[in-house]
Amino acid sequence: RYMRKPIVAGNWKMNGSRSLVKEFSTLMDGVDSAAVEVIICPPACYLSEFAGADFALGGQTVSELDNGAHTGDISAQMLIEFGCKYVIVGHSERRDDHGETSKLVAEKALKAINSGLTPIICIGESLQTREVGELESFLAAQLDALTSLMSAEQLSKAVIAYEPIWAIGTGVTATPEQAQDVHAFIRGHLASFSEDLASGMQILYGGSVKASNAKELFAQPDIDGGLIGGASLKVEEFRQVCQAA
Ligand code: PEP
Repeated sequence: RYMRKPIVAGNWKMNGSRSLVKEFSTLMDGVDSAAVEVIICPPACYLSEFAGADFALGGQTVSELDNGAHTGDISAQMLIEFGCKYVIVGHSERRDDHGETSKLVAEKALKAINSGLTPIICIGESLQTREVGELESFLAAQLDALTSLMSAEQLSKAVIAYEPIWAIGTGVTATPEQAQDVHAFIRGHLASFSEDLASGMQILYGGSVKASNAKELFAQPDIDGGLIGGASLKVEEFRQVCQAA
């Protein structure tokens, strides 16, 4: 492993409440923050409830624009003002529910980077894409949308999350070998753009990670932690995932 610190990021999606935020005040008990970067990405309206937290915060999406007449959107500066260091961009649910294209995802990531946020950029294929043998070309196209907008130096300020759509919220996890193969492909594809970028890039796995399978996944050489949905809503379970990194 190079100097890649593992990350465990919890994506609460449209879940949670003020009382769940309070339960998470004990999250870091028994978690070594020097060994793993822990992030919670709650709905934006709960960010202020986490003031003083001893883990990092992230948004779930961000506008590619600075401000203005864009009802419902949230800017990078707003996320920063409420304590975020990170923001998820291009989650498959945003791509599906809100029609976000790879070009738009790249624009959002660049806005985050230029504002001082670290984007966690999600990529990943559907089951159908995998079954017809287009996994690598599909992921390459998602990555190329990033490298066509950003320099290697800019993209080095991002994190990538590989999330096969068929594994998200389904209970079906990629096997450690399947995930490692894809992570190695992603790192190799980035290397054709920049070797330094590829070796330094933290690549997270996401898709039905839980306490019982996290250790094996995170032990793979090209897996640098995880993006966690369902299992990030229970403090005990999520703590164990953090401890596995
Ligand atoms: C996600 O949506 O980022 C995710 C990985 O969800 P889950 O862990 O619930 O599969």
